[in-house]
Amino acid sequence: MVRMRWDAQAVDAEEPAALSGLARLHDVVRSVRTPEFAGITFHEVLAKTALNRVPGQGFMGGAWTINPYRGCSHACVYCFARRTHEYLELDAGADFDSEIIVKVNVAEVVARELARRREPIPAVALGTNTDPYQRAEGRYRLMPGVVAALAQHGTPFSILTKGSLLRRDLPLLAEAARHTAVDLAMSIAVYDDELQQSIEPGTPSTSARLATVTAVRDAGLDCSVFLMPILPYLTDTRAHLDEALRRAKQAGATSVLYTALHLRPGTKEWFMMWLAREHPELVERYRSMYYGTNSYAPAGYRTWLAAKIRPLIRAHGLERGREDPVTGGVRSRALGGLRDADGERRMLAPVLAEELPPSAAAAAIGGQTLF
Ligand code: SF4
Repeated sequence: MVRMRWDAQAVDAEEPAALSGLARLHDVVRSVRTPEFAGITFHEVLAKTALNRVPGQGFMGGAWTINPYRGCSHACVYCFARRTHEYLELDAGADFDSEIIVKVNVAEVVARELARRREPIPAVALGTNTDPYQRAEGRYRLMPGVVAALAQHGTPFSILTKGSLLRRDLPLLAEAARHTAVDLAMSIAVYDDELQQSIEPGTPSTSARLATVTAVRDAGLDCSVFLMPILPYLTDTRAHLDEALRRAKQAGATSVLYTALHLRPGTKEWFMMWLAREHPELVERYRSMYYGTNSYAPAGYRTWLAAKIRPLIRAHGLERGREDPVTGGVRSRALGGLRDADGERRMLAPVLAEELPPSAAAAAIGGQTLF
């Protein structure tokens, strides 16, 4: 048997992998439970590939992504990646939160794939499907190898996370930023502690994430805050939005992006169960907004929200990204150097977050920005 570096990690229970859906996709090494992660099973797999190009022209279409994990113990009720677990014959609810697939060899595979490529990859997004700094990362430490491989090949990359564990890798990320463009963003949507713990039960607190923003800035890097999703009737009051932006600014955020909640099939059922339990008085209002197969907040609501929040974002000095002194537009370092086959600079594809709907992604295209 070949010994791998993760063999040495202490485990308390080891079971042969018996997940047929998972087994179809990967080489499963083993399934592990450990007391530090009560209720969570890690399914360690040997990935065959790690760099993923999102097919199609739509949301994320054409973007390159890396997802070291599938499933996410941050357990956000509104997470739109939930349904991806169904491809593994796991459910989009509790299984998504607790059955975590870990690509233990992801860094080696990324390094190998980058080394083999003739054409450089324009930019890679991490955190678009599941969170690369979820709690499992404390145990598996996959990101340092991924970051090192991307930096070594000069591949621009973005990281979006709710994990304060990002702090661990800040020296490495600051070093990577000396070799390539690096865009970092913290997703922080709820500034009411009780609501935050209820709807994002596995995440670090809002304060811990804001402190991480400050740590990123102290490391000399920009850090966006994703105010996503804004929850109708729960976090969309002027008072909440103003407080959110004030705290993001105080933490040192360089910009804020927002969007209203959207609820895809798979997520919608899970979210509505939570809403019925925690806020039954809102069930009918949500049903009328997200009726049938409708995933997006109604246009009227989004227009209302934009009119409310945009002036606040401006007032707090948190409009997206840095201004290009030549064009006056706002752009990111990571995409600033992208060129297509004809050598023209262009926006490849919106490289955006797990919560961001196509409408917001489209809006970002004009901004020449990863976030
Ligand atoms: S929204 Fe992001 S952090 Fe929350 S469960 Fe989904 S992937 Fe994890």
